[in-house]
Amino acid sequence: MASVTLDLSSASPARPAPVNLSGLTRTELQAALVASGLTPPDKARMRASQLWRWIHHFGVTDFAAMTDVAKDLRSGLAEHFTLARPEVVERQISKDGSRKWLIRTAPGIEIETVYIPDVGRAGALCVSSQVGCTLNCTFCHTGTQPLVRNLTAAEIIAQVQVARDDLEEWPSPREERRLSNVVFMGMGEPLYNLENVAAAIDIIADGEGIAISRRRITVSTSGVVPEIPRAGALTQAMLAISLHATNDELRNTLVPLNKRYPIAELLDAIRAYPGLSNARRVTFEYVMLKGINDSPEEARRLVQLMKGIPAKINLIPFNPWPGAPYECSDWATIERFASILNRGGYASPIRTPRGRDILAACGQLKSESEKVRASVRRAQAPAA
Ligand code: SAH
Ligand code: SF4
Repeated sequence: MASVTLDLSSASPARPAPVNLSGLTRTELQAALVASGLTPPDKARMRASQLWRWIHHFGVTDFAAMTDVAKDLRSGLAEHFTLARPEVVERQISKDGSRKWLIRTAPGIEIETVYIPDVGRAGALCVSSQVGCTLNCTFCHTGTQPLVRNLTAAEIIAQVQVARDDLEEWPSPREERRLSNVVFMGMGEPLYNLENVAAAIDIIADGEGIAISRRRITVSTSGVVPEIPRAGALTQAMLAISLHATNDELRNTLVPLNKRYPIAELLDAIRAYPGLSNARRVTFEYVMLKGINDSPEEARRLVQLMKGIPAKINLIPFNPWPGAPYECSDWATIERFASILNRGGYASPIRTPRGRDILAACGQLKSESEKVRASVRRAQAPAA
């Protein structure tokens, strides 16, 4: 019925939306410049390098700021392309200095990104790789939300750019940085979106730009075994494994993907991860769930499982969310667990809960997209 037809005239102009150059890889940037006719193929590499520095080292969002680019070319670029950031729908700062942003990149695509100070060398940015998740780990809030879609490399990079804007870290500092590490521990399973994650890491690690080295970038997986070797080859990033249990029966419940890739297979894949050494250890994440996985016997079993693997353990106090079927272990229990690991030869820092007042902790990220999508669906549903 005409009365409920959406007016999309302003949303779909005759010309396609301009390509945003700030989310492209170097190769894509070169190709875009050539395709626009603004740069001849034999100059594309040089021109892309020049723009790259402005975009990823200086963080500019306006072609006019590129002072060493000829004026004509700057206006040509502005006609064909954009460098605009996505909309930041919400920004929260915790008492402890953690920050959380809700970034909208498209209708119904809202991405949560969290900055946590004093993690890694100076501070870590926890980025999302998907909106929602196909896996249903029972302790994870994201797991209660169906997958909306994979994020593009540009949407992953936008999270770093928005954080850098807000932390006022342009141009890329050489030494003192607030944002020193990037962890793929936000929403989603990065190994189910490996191409885009790898392209984003190429951009983040590029020494002429954001320049966060691959040793300070960690990809966390719930254990997608067949993708682990490829993740190593494509990203050369540090690996984190969400283990959470020391026997298959319990892990099948907590991380249902374990039914497909049980612990023994997972450990084999980790052993084969390229570049592991005492200086480049794999991190085992272990969420502490009261009365579920926190006994001294399980701590001892964990030590056994990791034998022969250059590893460290991250004990994560469970972050409760409304309706969660678990509780966090008592502090004394966590400390006892940690001391058994220490005696077994593994440093096992307990991750201090951060940003609790703004629900910024891992596993609490669940975007509003679901709601938004539902309302979009309702609006688009043909009137019966
Ligand atoms: N999908 C990937 C990465 C995102 S989850 C993975 O599962 O590894 C990032 C980390 O947060 C994982 O170790 C995950 O198990 C943990 N996590 C999820 N929900 C949590 C919660 N409620 N409390 C504490 N840690 C949680
Ligand atoms: Fe997905 Fe990771 Fe949450 Fe499991 S813990 S549901 S894999 S985001």
